[in-house]
Amino acid sequence: MAILEVRGVNKRFGGLQALGDVNLSVEEGSVHAIIGPNGAGKSTLLNCLVGKLNPDSGSVNFDGQSVLGRSPHEINQMGISRVFQTPEIFGDLTVIENMLIPCYARRDGAFKLNPLTSMRKGGEMQTKAEAMLDDVNMLDKLHMQASSMSRGDKRRLEMAMCLVQEPRLLLLDEPTAGMARADTNNTIDLLKEIHAKRDITMAIIEHDMHVVFSLAQRITVLAQGTPLVEDTPENIKGHPKVKEAYLGE
Ligand code: ADP
Ligand code: MG
Repeated sequence: MAILEVRGVNKRFGGLQALGDVNLSVEEGSVHAIIGPNGAGKSTLLNCLVGKLNPDSGSVNFDGQSVLGRSPHEINQMGISRVFQTPEIFGDLTVIENMLIPCYARRDGAFKLNPLTSMRKGGEMQTKAEAMLDDVNMLDKLHMQASSMSRGDKRRLEMAMCLVQEPRLLLLDEPTAGMARADTNNTIDLLKEIHAKRDITMAIIEHDMHVVFSLAQRITVLAQGTPLVEDTPENIKGHPKVKEAYLGE
């Protein structure tokens, strides 16, 4: 069953058709990659899924409910979380403080910018946050200041901040962009672990074919705002249209 159904989505920026009649089905429990050259419309599509942009036409349904017209926060509460290209963490705060923010945001609704003063430490939220940090092997870094951590650990923390909200669909926009090979491989392992441990669907935008082929069960290739082909990694690798449009062969 598809958890995410995108049908006939169009989006223009002035004279530019960034998305043209996009259809996409993401199966529940799968890892689905969206690939395509720069400017293909990948981030625009993602922004239409999380309420940052409104498509000009078409429909986007998550678990049978339309997300269109809802705010990013409402969509987040429906069970969609997004990992940004640059880790969105609070550098001045410790790891556990960072973790408590999404816990409270999910429970209390509005995302208050200074939640720590009103936040009761300890209790149920702290237990939940610590369990999640254990899952991503960061329990030993609980009281470390976030800005002092390595890029890989910042990514790990950001992932934990998303996952502690128990999303059903995790959206990732180029999660390994700018990473060295070792950090990229760590991220692949982390995502594999998360996918195996949790009942979660992932849609991942990614440039790095090594990452895509390591993780995805389905791949949609976007070119000039329109899906060119959707298939398994094995079939995508040898697809002549894909080679021509994307792999440059
Ligand atoms: P990708 O993520 O695949 O690289 P984008 O979705 O970022 O592609 O962009 C698709 C096209 O839409 C590009 O030509 C880009 O310049 C354009 N675009 C994206 N966002 C905006 C915007 N807010 N205003 C105008 N044009 C935009
Ligand atoms: Mg992009």
